[in-house]
Amino acid sequence: MPVRIHLSSPDVGELEESYLIRALRSGWAAPAGPDLDAFERELADRVGTRHAVAVSSGTAALHLALLAVGAGPGTRVVVPTLTFVATANAVVYTGAEPIFVDCEPETGNLDPELLAELLRRLRADGEQVAAVLPVDMFGVCANYDALLPLCAAVGVPVVEDAAEALGAARHGRPAGSFGRAGVFSFNGNKIITTSGGGMIVSDDEALVARCRHLAAQARQPVAHYEHTEVGYNYRLSNLLAALGRAQLHRLDELLGRRRQLRERYAKLFATTPGVRLLGEGDAGANCWLTCLVVDPARAGWHAGELAAHLAERDIETRPLWKPMHLQPVFARARGLVTGTAEHLYRTGLALPSGSNMDETRISRVHLAVAEFLAGR
Ligand SMILES: *Cc1c(COP(=O)(O)O)cnc(C)c1O
Repeated sequence: MPVRIHLSSPDVGELEESYLIRALRSGWAAPAGPDLDAFERELADRVGTRHAVAVSSGTAALHLALLAVGAGPGTRVVVPTLTFVATANAVVYTGAEPIFVDCEPETGNLDPELLAELLRRLRADGEQVAAVLPVDMFGVCANYDALLPLCAAVGVPVVEDAAEALGAARHGRPAGSFGRAGVFSFNGNKIITTSGGGMIVSDDEALVARCRHLAAQARQPVAHYEHTEVGYNYRLSNLLAALGRAQLHRLDELLGRRRQLRERYAKLFATTPGVRLLGEGDAGANCWLTCLVVDPARAGWHAGELAAHLAERDIETRPLWKPMHLQPVFARARGLVTGTAEHLYRTGLALPSGSNMDETRISRVHLAVAEFLAGR
């Protein structure tokens, strides 16, 4: 039986091994140390922000960034309904209320027109909006040309959920650098991994210092463990930061492989009626996951049928994120929802996109897809 092909599995090798061993031998097996400092500096450099603080997950990074911009009880945070649950959960952790907005059909990213309408309504009702939290869906930057002026006009900070978007850009500007703060994830399935980890980036030194303070139990700078507020234990290990540095060193190589996979999928489906790639034509995409959107009326088949065909051949696929407003846990949440996210969820399919897909795996997927299409 051939090995199972996953959607996006960790791509680590000898460089990661050597960085990790060096960190271990340095004695800094702690949530502090030279690799942590260097990882923060190197990632901030890559993203083009002045400051960065590493934490234990992307979710923790979102939580702290939201706290730092003032999200809390009595405030609202606007979140795209099409996202991974962590985006919405982080809002709830702060005590703020998530309000869900629908997306653009081409990219799955937050729809600026709907956001404008929602902000207008919230303002008219005198509701306090602490932040807008756009997600760079599957590694395509949200439409910041439209989003940033809208938010600036009403004085609402943007926190960018760039968890999936390291290495992506819009008009040459790197993902993560668009808002007051940006957030990355280094979970095992992301562009680079520390097995688990995250980062907050910002030009705002005070904001990053605030996150750093909260991530270390909000301990006052005195010897006797003085605390004036509740903090969190969200620091990243120095060992994992070393792993992250090796991965960051390889970022362009990893991005190149994902982009190549995207191009080959584009060719594979180029003449298939009723099929498009989500975010197609975005030159700055990092191609984290290549996702199909299938119009069953034109294609003559459903995304789910292709998924079943591939599953039988031990090839993993996934539907796009199930929208937050359809999740039982957020059943009572408010939002401005038009049905686009739900449509993408029902017609979309994420394909194996990992940077460690070798030629054997790629041809297995392509042959299986070709076989499926030939049978339609
Ligand atoms: C992965 C992801 C997160 C959470 O990151 P973790 O490191 O897994 O906590 C948040 N938002 C989005 C959009 C993600 O894809």
